[in-house]
Amino acid sequence: MKNIAIIGAGMTGLSLAYNLEEHNITIFDKSWRPGGRVSTRKHDNYFFDHGAHYLSTNHSVNQLNDVISKYNLGQVIEIDFATDYLKNKKTRKKIIIGQNGMNSIPKSIFNNIKVKRYLNSKIIKISKNSNDLYSLFSEKEEFKDFDYVLICIPYLQSKELSKDLIDFTQIVNEPSYDAIQTVMLSYKNNNNINIEAGLNLHKDISFFMNQNIKFNELSHDCWVLNMSSEYTNNNIDIDKNTLEKYAQSIFEETFDIKNEISFIKSHRWLYAQTKVSYNTISKKNWINSKDNKIFLSGDWVLGKSLSDAWDAGEKLSHYIKILSV
Ligand SMILES: Cc1cc2nc3c(=O)[nH]c(=O)nc-3n(C[C@H](O)[C@H](O)[C@H](O)COP(=O)(O)OP(=O)(O)OC[C@H]3O[C@@H](n4cnc5c(N)ncnc54)[C@H](O)[C@@H]3O)c2cc1C
Repeated sequence: MKNIAIIGAGMTGLSLAYNLEEHNITIFDKSWRPGGRVSTRKHDNYFFDHGAHYLSTNHSVNQLNDVISKYNLGQVIEIDFATDYLKNKKTRKKIIIGQNGMNSIPKSIFNNIKVKRYLNSKIIKISKNSNDLYSLFSEKEEFKDFDYVLICIPYLQSKELSKDLIDFTQIVNEPSYDAIQTVMLSYKNNNNINIEAGLNLHKDISFFMNQNIKFNELSHDCWVLNMSSEYTNNNIDIDKNTLEKYAQSIFEETFDIKNEISFIKSHRWLYAQTKVSYNTISKKNWINSKDNKIFLSGDWVLGKSLSDAWDAGEKLSHYIKILSV
């Protein structure tokens, strides 16, 4: 049995923890909750999945489906989906959503695995001891004697955290991300919009989704909008109020909304979705230190979805199992 530290309790870190449960696992997350970009925001009586919106029914990561059915975490729903709203292309689409918002998926996995856990614990330093074991440091504490450290956070952040332990000069082409601004908005009265989600609502809004189809208890008409990556890049430091007003005006114009808005809030995801994956550039499934003790993984290794994140964790876990025999 090895002492293994996992930094990041998003889908990648949880996949590793799930697959390496026979070891002595400690998982750290800087946030107060697990799930990372699979995030459900609750404001008073409003609920929004403002990170990952749904899991595709045609992804190929069998273990993720097994875990979702084992713990009864998801449900398949069929919705009216605009494959391209601007071109008036619509279809009926089956998607998988969490039983109680998307974050209920990682939250339940986190609660079901037997690991030591430290939330609200941002790891700021990793160092090697004289006995070849690793120590992790948060702002307040040192955590000692790990055989392996698995870093499951966005690429640039993991590079910063491990730059003294991994030779990054070997990585000529690096994976990259798109940033996305999301806007959550609600109306007290139902706007009777006849489409539930879709792509390309406007040149500056790449995705939109109704939240009432996910949360039965919602009394207001709740929506999440993703600004396009191009718009986000060009307006990366935009004042929140200006952004929210702009998104609201597009939404109301598009659907001819006369009802008064009851809630609006935005959030900027700096590392939202993988643009170029590490595997595409290098054909590799993780980045490792020379001594094969520090590993970097994340959705950015394979793609841009939560199933890619799970797959990346699962692939690395097979290698750690071989190493730790
Ligand atoms: C707006 C948006 C929409 C999306 N839509 C979809 C979708 O519809 N379908 C889909 O499949 N995917 C979607 N995705 C992508 C999906 O959310 C990600 O691919 C997946 O959640 C990534 O998981 P991860 O574990 O690799 O990373 P993350 O979820 O980013 O997890 C990393 C974790 O590490 C923690 N952390 C970071 N630094 C530290 C540190 N120093 N110390 C400790 N902890 C740290 C963070 O708090 C976080 O919990 C979307 C993402 C966004 C942002």
